Amino acid sequence: MTHATDEKSIILPDLPYPIGALAPVLSEETLRFHYGKHHQTYVDKLNSLLPASRFVGASLDTLVKEAEAGPLFNNAAQIWNHTFYWNGLSPDGGKKPQGGLAKAIDDSFGSFDAFKAKFTETGLNLFGSGWVWLVKGTDGKVAVIPGANAANPLRDGLRPLLTVDVWEHAFYIDYRNGKKAYLDAIWEIVNWRFAEENFAR
Ligand code: MN
Repeated sequence: MTHATDEKSIILPDLPYPIGALAPVLSEETLRFHYGKHHQTYVDKLNSLLPASRFVGASLDTLVKEAEAGPLFNNAAQIWNHTFYWNGLSPDGGKKPQGGLAKAIDDSFGSFDAFKAKFTETGLNLFGSGWVWLVKGTDGKVAVIPGANAANPLRDGLRPLLTVDVWEHAFYIDYRNGKKAYLDAIWEIVNWRFAEENFAR
């Protein structure tokens, strides 16, 4: 996953599908706010902070791994996390993972359904804003972990495979306070090919 840069600034990546393509699970209105406003604002904010930092010309991955806690890290990680979230969704998504990832999920959770239950529970139990991640550890095993606010597993040496945004802005337009309804519906658009490629890399 790359974020284009013109040396001095980070550029908001295009969505990998038309803005209304995830409806009805995520409406075009949600994407217009979530991608068009929230994601864009993190990009604008980071670009306003970068010139005074030691990260001019650095990649977003470097910022996410090395920036000290604070506004620079928060905005860089939120850009990374949102791009990863959009890539982990697809209008052609749903169904189940295949191959090595499917086996790793069975090994860690017992079954795909048990994995989904763990993922949903982790999202529901995350108090406040944050993300739910499916990650691969250095031992090759997969795990589900919560991340508060802008947390990113790269900082802990884990490989992100898939993430779901559980900030209220991710679901409030379509589901109001229905965080569980959002987490239940999201499986219909999960891009398992993306997660499989991340697992196999
Ligand atoms: Mn978000």
